[in-house]
Amino acid sequence: MTTSSAVKYRDDMGVLSDRYRADFPILDQRAPDGHPLIYLDHAATSQKPRQVLQALEQYYAADNANVHRGAHQLSARATESFEAARTVTAEFVRAASPREIVFTRNASEAINLVARSWGEANLREGDEVLLTLMEHHSNLVPWQLLAQRTGCVLRHVGITEAGELDLEDFRSKLTDRTRLVSLVHISNALGCCNPLDQVIPAAHAAGALVLVDACQSLAHKPIDVAGLDVDFLVGSSHKLCGPTGMGFLWAREALLEAMPPFLGGGEMIQDVFLDHSTWAVLPHKFEAGTPAIGEAVGMGAAIRYLQAIGLEAIQAWEAQLTRHLFGRLQAIEGVRVLGPTPEQQSDRGALATFLVDGVHANDIAALMDASGICIRSGHHCCQPLHRHYGVTASARASLSFISTFEEIDRFSEELTSTIGFLREHG
Ligand SMILES: *Cc1c(COP(=O)(O)O)cnc(C)c1O
Repeated sequence: MTTSSAVKYRDDMGVLSDRYRADFPILDQRAPDGHPLIYLDHAATSQKPRQVLQALEQYYAADNANVHRGAHQLSARATESFEAARTVTAEFVRAASPREIVFTRNASEAINLVARSWGEANLREGDEVLLTLMEHHSNLVPWQLLAQRTGCVLRHVGITEAGELDLEDFRSKLTDRTRLVSLVHISNALGCCNPLDQVIPAAHAAGALVLVDACQSLAHKPIDVAGLDVDFLVGSSHKLCGPTGMGFLWAREALLEAMPPFLGGGEMIQDVFLDHSTWAVLPHKFEAGTPAIGEAVGMGAAIRYLQAIGLEAIQAWEAQLTRHLFGRLQAIEGVRVLGPTPEQQSDRGALATFLVDGVHANDIAALMDASGICIRSGHHCCQPLHRHYGVTASARASLSFISTFEEIDRFSEELTSTIGFLREHG
């Protein structure tokens, strides 16, 4: 990108960012020391715009009832709102039908669903599941439990010097025993965007299915499950401006049809006898018990909100912010940012995970918090990745389309003085 178009983006998108910031009431507060609150932890959970809060309030104030059962008007409206959220979610990922969207409590539950249902029905001793070293614990532990139950073998693709997926290692570990490749789209720690256009065709050619953990990509770039030709995709509402307690699994209808139920109970059955039952049609077969109705409605509102802004516009603006964040961090002595730089990978995620020579990440985060700057420190649910780098913790600043250049400047100034202080007194 030339300098002039970069400047143009900054002007155009800067206006866009300012406009949408006002939708987030939580940002309108000050830290105890009087500084404006700066939230740079969007990758841990996103903030919620007024439109989502209003959808929740509207649902509980006007429509609340249980779904799919009552003959009365409230139940009809609740069911309509709940199923409309499913349709919105299906359109968001370009699913062929809302029947392909299974609502879950979060992305972790969606992965557990695949591991328990598809995994137990299809994997035998010696079959392989190929994961990566950069996976979130949510995409490691369910497969460990599956391996204990079935005897399947877990293998892990390494990462390169630059902090990207090692495609050579991927190709060498992909064999005719590989039944599933399960990997993150954008890493919540490295921020790298994995080359699904190379991973998925290679996996299919080897006869394996592919699960994509899209938690960190859904709110930041357009996703098209058909275009990707993926088999399973999971997401989480709270990472895309929606409520907590809500997530989803997308899978092709034929695949879901062939899978046994995950949890048993109400909603997921057609007929129940004392000794056996028959299952409800998709996607209800996988949704036991009263679902998170209000949260689903809230997630639907969040998706509509993101769509109204436009995922392409969000992606372009966040790319500008990310370059600025990297520029500022790279200028601070002793700071090492993990993962590819925006120059190495232009579609990398809008976050920066970093280590500081001789200073503990938790101390940095605690001191920054005292100045009103919220960043994450710890292992970010990626302990094996941190072990690979020989550390137990790192610090992370993560952005959203409502982040600003000014916030990044204040963050980097505060970080510089915090590091100076800790070097002197730590
Ligand atoms: C947050 C996150 C998860 C877990 O999502 P939950 O909805 O909290 O279960 C999994 N993978 C990645 C990459 C994440 O960022």
